[in-house]
Amino acid sequence: MNYKHIIAEVYQEVKNIEEKGQSASYIPELSKVNSENFGIHISTVDNFDFGIGNYNEKFSIQSIAKVLSLSLAYKLLGEKIWERLGVEPSGTSFNSLVQLEVDNGIPRNPFINAGAIVISDILVSHLENPKEDFLEFVRTLSDNPDLSYSDKISASEKSTGHRNIAICNFMKSYGNILNDPSEVLDFYFDLCSLEMTCKELSKLFLFLANGGCKVVDNKRILTKSQSKRINALMQTCGFYDESGEFAFKVGLPGKSGIGGGIVAIHPNQYAIAVWSPKLNKKGNSYKGMRFLEEFTTKSEQSIF
Ligand code: GLN
Repeated sequence: MNYKHIIAEVYQEVKNIEEKGQSASYIPELSKVNSENFGIHISTVDNFDFGIGNYNEKFSIQSIAKVLSLSLAYKLLGEKIWERLGVEPSGTSFNSLVQLEVDNGIPRNPFINAGAIVISDILVSHLENPKEDFLEFVRTLSDNPDLSYSDKISASEKSTGHRNIAICNFMKSYGNILNDPSEVLDFYFDLCSLEMTCKELSKLFLFLANGGCKVVDNKRILTKSQSKRINALMQTCGFYDESGEFAFKVGLPGKSGIGGGIVAIHPNQYAIAVWSPKLNKKGNSYKGMRFLEEFTTKSEQSIF
């Protein structure tokens, strides 16, 4: 498959379409990013790499980091984590509170904010130094000691994160947050502030295309079953109330972030990362979705 040719062609096509959507503004620092950025990078399990556009520029991966915190919690605690959250699509926006009351403080899945905050609580309970230990896990996954949080972005989100503060305290009232909410939220805001380039992101996520093992050194991160399940959750819940649409149009497991990034996995083949900051109404990158739709259509490859 000539991925390079297809990516270059679709990149030009999508680059030129009239851009709908807006950059996230509820995190003030994110609105300062140049919204014209557009980058793609693919990494395959047989060591092919190709990038185009702003694929070497770091951006805030935001909710894409929820896949990494889930991976670490799942690795450490196994199936026990599912006592505290579900595996069903929510059909609601990423920061919704509406189902939490009906569900007695149990979030529907780990990729809406409520679910990722519960996973953060689990990690705060089980890691000696949550912020440092999580970063160490991410650096090991990527073999890149330079990966880091952005203090500017996390401080910016902390100053305006009122909905997340509400979500965390609401779940605490049901007994589903065990630590001090401010400690849990600090960790959650930090992990959302992780910065990476498309190239770093696609390389890092390759373990989920490779049955849970890193490609470079074959190191096992997750069991095959855990890797399958995380891919299944990305497929069904990775884009909040647009997860069905992403499955319909793209046909790959994926995860988006409010910084405009999307990572998608073709199991046994590749991980691809796309970044374009303007978001559609559901909070997913407008051009990122368009690019991946055209890419899987032209390559005639998807999991279906
Ligand atoms: N940090 C963001 C928030 O909690 C993440 C949301 C997202 O990327 N969809 O609001």
